[in-house]
Amino acid sequence: MSGYTPMIQQYLSVKEEAKDAFLFFRLGDFYEMFFDDAINASRELEITLTGREGGGAAKIPMCGVPYHSADNYINRLIEKGYKVAICEQVEDPAAAKGVVRREIVRIVTPGTVMESKQLDGSTNNFIAAVANAGGVIGLSACDLSTGELYVTSFPANLEALVDELNVYVPAEVVGDGNLLKQLDGSPAWGRKVPLTDRDPIGVDRLNEQFGEAEVAALSSSTARMAALGIMTGYLGETQKRSLSHVRHIRSYEPNQYMILDHYTRRNLELTETVRDRSKRGSLLWLLDRTGTSMGARLLRRWIDKPLLSSSAIGKRLDAVETLYRNLILREDIRSELQPIYDLERLVGRVAYGNAGGRDLIALKSSLRRIPNLTSLCLASGSPVLEELVAGADDCADLADMIETVLVDEPPVSIREGGLIRAGYDDYLDSLREASTNGKRWLAELERQEREATGIKSLKIGYNKVFGYYLEVSKANLTSLPEGRYERKQTLANAERFVTPELKEKERLILEAEDKMVDLEYARFIELRDHLALHLHRLQRAAEMIAELDVYQSLATVSAERRYTRPTVSEGYDLDIVDGRHPVVEAMMDGTPFISNDTHLRRDEDWIMLITGPNMAGKSTYMRQAALICIMAQIGCFVPAKAAGIPLIDRIFTRIGAADDLIGGQSTFMVEMKDIQVMTEKATASSLVIIDELGRGTSTAEGMAIAQAVIEYVHHHIGSKALVSTHFHELAHLEESLPSLGNARMAVEESGDDVTFLRKLIAGAASTSYGIYCAQLAGLPQSIIGRAYELLANTDDSSERTAGGGTSAARAGSDIGQTRQSQSAHPAPNTAMDNVRSDVRGQAAHGYRESA
Ligand code: ADP
Repeated sequence: MSGYTPMIQQYLSVKEEAKDAFLFFRLGDFYEMFFDDAINASRELEITLTGREGGGAAKIPMCGVPYHSADNYINRLIEKGYKVAICEQVEDPAAAKGVVRREIVRIVTPGTVMESKQLDGSTNNFIAAVANAGGVIGLSACDLSTGELYVTSFPANLEALVDELNVYVPAEVVGDGNLLKQLDGSPAWGRKVPLTDRDPIGVDRLNEQFGEAEVAALSSSTARMAALGIMTGYLGETQKRSLSHVRHIRSYEPNQYMILDHYTRRNLELTETVRDRSKRGSLLWLLDRTGTSMGARLLRRWIDKPLLSSSAIGKRLDAVETLYRNLILREDIRSELQPIYDLERLVGRVAYGNAGGRDLIALKSSLRRIPNLTSLCLASGSPVLEELVAGADDCADLADMIETVLVDEPPVSIREGGLIRAGYDDYLDSLREASTNGKRWLAELERQEREATGIKSLKIGYNKVFGYYLEVSKANLTSLPEGRYERKQTLANAERFVTPELKEKERLILEAEDKMVDLEYARFIELRDHLALHLHRLQRAAEMIAELDVYQSLATVSAERRYTRPTVSEGYDLDIVDGRHPVVEAMMDGTPFISNDTHLRRDEDWIMLITGPNMAGKSTYMRQAALICIMAQIGCFVPAKAAGIPLIDRIFTRIGAADDLIGGQSTFMVEMKDIQVMTEKATASSLVIIDELGRGTSTAEGMAIAQAVIEYVHHHIGSKALVSTHFHELAHLEESLPSLGNARMAVEESGDDVTFLRKLIAGAASTSYGIYCAQLAGLPQSIIGRAYELLANTDDSSERTAGGGTSAARAGSDIGQTRQSQSAHPAPNTAMDNVRSDVRGQAAHGYRESA
């Protein structure tokens, strides 16, 4: 290292502090990168790689980006999951002896992005910290842009960790190395975000950040303290400034909320669709009628974490009901919310010291809406809404202050003046006066000089290098009197001059302007610092607005879609009368959605085995029950005529989707793993949903596993369960399992046509209609005909059982038969395979959707 120049030596020692980041090393107007950073950055950013003599034997690889467009390059690296350490010159180069002192001022990482360009308003950007302390995992999640901080803990278990992390969709995870290694190796995780190994900081520093009371409340949990310690340490390390907006720790128990594992969230398309991961088509999309970004984010969190307390749910439902019944109130509240900016992120920017004039004006205009919102809520007649705003702080003093200090439309930059309102600062006003007078004087001078010289085109101009000048075109130079003008600059067709009196005035004007800009900046910073003392108040106001926004959003959707208030109870029975699938219904154009009941009761049947052809509506029906439970437990009305919802502690879904092939696992293996988790975790208060149980292996095995799983749920777990299967032979289970009931999707056959009625009726279907389905998919008629022929050959019984349970004996003989056909046709699980013995061998069956 000693062979390098002092500057490169400095670079290398700074680089030691940020080994896992790209080091943006400030040199004049550029951020330069050297060595491997340069090689990698030139590749990732597609910028030219050059070299620089640095005292070593060979040239040092180097590349750089201009300082003024650095944000763009930083963003691109962050989006690719890298970290960027920004190293600035921290002393005035003119005053420096030797190499200018340089320090890392901030490390930008995917989980700690603050710039609004990189952040989507309706989603949080979380960073998570995880720690394992003696068999307990502590987890902390923080959105630095809004200041939210959560902490929880649970018995060490990788799946539980992945599930909880998935709630936050963190952009980055820090934690103890071992745990991160396990996470990285887990197929259920599969996220490509940076995982950084860090140790927790000590309690003293936590006390400094949060205050002793907040920390003491956590101190009984070593795991939570460790997670918080890792988080706080890492935020300190990367942000290198006080995080005055991250003060409040929200600690919670995972079992305060309904547990939804990753697959279930995806399968039920809670916040994004399975197919293209878009919000459109998800439950969030349907329910999101929020007017503010805070509201949109809170709604997402509510959907991610349905409640498990009937009184808390009842309160939310009360608030929603008031707004549901009162259209005018709802509309009034909506129109007050609409113009409110993202207060939480504005507060984050104030805390960070990067809020500009326009941010503060946005803050002010948002705060100004609070009094109206408050009075609307106070007059609403809803105790919940009254309580929400009771004693609400409208921060009027802060809004007033912004209004007094700032002009209505400040410029983007805070360093070029034009920010401070006239009348706020006497000295500033007098400087402005001087500057205005000076300019008036200049205009007068221009007029006089034109008159004196007779040159009409003579003009006074300004540039940064020469200051004020008189400009005369070449053609007119001869008209200038000798001696009075001093030549300053020659252009292609003009000359620029100054005079002593112009120079004198210029000094006064520029001095005043410099002072003005400095003074305005100082006044602005004063204002911002003052606001920073009241972050907590602003955050509370933002929370209140967010909550109100979510209530009105849920109420708006509920009213427009004619949902009803569910009755949420601690009991067991799930009773949905005329339920609808909220999203499928909303996406349908014109055709009515056919409603169906769901009754799963302790003293009747609580496992429903659903058979029926593909496309009949089985999975829609099962998802609809799950979604209705979730909607009820977040405090929303539900798409049903009536709904009695027991508190569901966890929903398991096993709903086949083609993209389950995670980490090269087969669909069948994934299914079995899900079922394993279900057998371990489900309780009598859970809801289990399994679509097409037992597919993906041979028919006989699939059917055997399906039966065994259903028996297990029946005998050992007691969860409410909706199970669909194409093994209609399983219908016989109704006889041996007292709490299992058969149901099927009604299908109307007339002649060659099959019509889906989308209506659930009692009893089992007698066929899977697999060949009908193949036909529907457009397979050539010759294949369809041949399939029926083969089916008829492998099948001796052509008798058809209408509805009702089939006998156990029959199902048994079916299994035997399948085995035979299995060896003859080694490709399992084709559409043909699904088709069982009862299909009559006609060749031409048309398919028709029910109108
Ligand atoms: P299955 O699971 O039986 O193969 P799906 O539940 O996927 O069938 O339903 C197939 C299609 O039928 C859905 O995409 C939906 O458009 C329509 N559908 C399902 N249920 C209903 C219903 N109750 N009312 C109207 N259309 C429905």
